[in-house]
Amino acid sequence: MATLKDYRGDLSTWCPGCGHFSVMAGIQKALINLGYEPHEVAIITGIGCSSKLSEYTRTYGFHTIHGRSLPVAQGVKMANPNLKVIAAGGDGDGYGIGLGHFVHAVRRNIDMTYVAMDNNIYGLTKGQTSPRSAHNFVTKTTLKGNKEYPVDPLSTAIANGGTFVAQAFSGDIKTMTEILEKALQHKGFALVNIFSPCVTYNKVNTYDYYKDNLVNIDAPLATREEAIKVVKEHDGLVQGVIYQEERDDFQTKLGIDWKILDVKTGEMDEALLRQTEAMFK
Ligand code: SF4
Repeated sequence: MATLKDYRGDLSTWCPGCGHFSVMAGIQKALINLGYEPHEVAIITGIGCSSKLSEYTRTYGFHTIHGRSLPVAQGVKMANPNLKVIAAGGDGDGYGIGLGHFVHAVRRNIDMTYVAMDNNIYGLTKGQTSPRSAHNFVTKTTLKGNKEYPVDPLSTAIANGGTFVAQAFSGDIKTMTEILEKALQHKGFALVNIFSPCVTYNKVNTYDYYKDNLVNIDAPLATREEAIKVVKEHDGLVQGVIYQEERDDFQTKLGIDWKILDVKTGEMDEALLRQTEAMFK
């Protein structure tokens, strides 16, 4: 059985106290608890502080380009469905330049987990307003306060057919790890938006802010309408699995057995490979 040491990758350059340390530990712990070995997992990231996760965790990995973790991750899953695929990145990466890919990945329901490490700011480029920054949020790019309103990823995912929509907080690692385990076990596209404070540039959305304001949702809401209503009632400050629905994932809907490559032996199923090639001709 793998240990945290087996998952340890390159030495981190994150600032001391950054929320991303706990997110990384939570992902690694969840994978270990579910019995995954590093060679059975692929982590695909975009660009930003959080996207360094694919280098700091020793699994298969691809540090892609800005906002493009989801298309690449979907390609990885289609090419080798036996891998447990995790896409990850920040709120700027996923809900700014990557927002179109996010909506399509949600509605496509490919079997993978998307971890959005949400610190409400661009950290790597030294503290600019992001698509998740609050209205009137002040940074060097919005000196008189942000005139826009933030993207709501939970409601967007629920409204666009998301089958697993959850939110966690890196300051509550136990709950976060439990939520990540549920996401990794979900058959279909699972979103986990994780509040992960940027201690260097964001002095508003701090650990204390989330400790004081987050509301626990103990069980998924029964309908999409109720789930969106609860998210809106609490201004998005909820923690838990907000909505979950069992539905065939994309590959099951295509109707073929996708076990083409055995990741343990490296052997290809030639007959299935020919069948798949024929489908795309
Ligand atoms: Fe973390 Fe912010 Fe430092 Fe980036 S700049 S590593 S997000 S604390």
